Amino acid sequence: MMNLCDLRTVREIMERHGLKFRHEFGQNFLITPAVPQRIAEMCCDDAESCILEIGPGIGTLTCYLAERFSKVTAVEIDRGLIPALGETLAEYGNVKIINDDIMKVDIEKLVREEFSDRRVSVCANLPYYITTPIIMKLLESNVRFDSITVMIQREVADRLTASAGDSDYGAITAVLGYYGEAEKLFTVKPGNFEPPPKVDSTVVRISLYDTPKYTPRDRELFFSVIKAAFAQRRKTMLNALSSGLSGYDKAMISRAIEEAGHRADIRGERLSTADFCLLSDKLYEIKNNIQEI
Ligand code: SAM
Repeated sequence: MMNLCDLRTVREIMERHGLKFRHEFGQNFLITPAVPQRIAEMCCDDAESCILEIGPGIGTLTCYLAERFSKVTAVEIDRGLIPALGETLAEYGNVKIINDDIMKVDIEKLVREEFSDRRVSVCANLPYYITTPIIMKLLESNVRFDSITVMIQREVADRLTASAGDSDYGAITAVLGYYGEAEKLFTVKPGNFEPPPKVDSTVVRISLYDTPKYTPRDRELFFSVIKAAFAQRRKTMLNALSSGLSGYDKAMISRAIEEAGHRADIRGERLSTADFCLLSDKLYEIKNNIQEI
């Protein structure tokens, strides 16, 4: 395995390929071998699994993934890195690099073409300018990933792993709870990257539910309620939903909040994913005139 964490090697590869660290692509490469090694070890137990990596950079984490798993497909936006990756990953026959923007990729199609019906997990040191959209895209794709392990800014990790009532709890926490459970694995200081980012990083593993844990009567309504509840954080749920949820008047919302067992002045950050599911079901029942038996 090439030592892609050695700073001199990194600089030599970049110079030879005429590359500069591109801030606009969130390029902070790992330079401490123990970090990518641990991420690869902790992301998945099953060596038969396939891995989708986002943003391989010069292939630092990719090498560890290729050593450990049966197949790795990595999507990298920066065309300039592709020849370098051809060189750094030359010894691995189980790696494929795709030059594309992950936000433009049809994830379902990519997974079908690359891995057919095999088990797949995601593993990535994500570009920080676009962390949340990438995670949301992965969650909302119709792909049954086993897990999603990502290194992200510490504050985003705090948000993903918060509990209802915490100050970090937000719409993304409640939405993520629908798909699976997130746990923090470990924190990584800026000095482990070149160039060092301005913030601490945390590796988070999201274990996705095999079968849905929550089954709202109307999934779209459930997500709309969460979105509206957090759109104006300082408002009570009643006011936030009255102004942000179309098709429901204040009386209906007030009744649904009460029937779901909450006080009239409850705020969104106190409701768990299960609570949002129940509240959206109450709204659905009230609107469609469904009586509980
Ligand atoms: N995996 C390498 C490592 O750990 O050292 C590099 C990680 S670096 C934080 C993020 C990588 O994501 C960069 O290589 C960057 O070019 C790539 N990237 C940024 N935006 C992307 C996008 N929209 N789609 C795919 N790759 C992207």
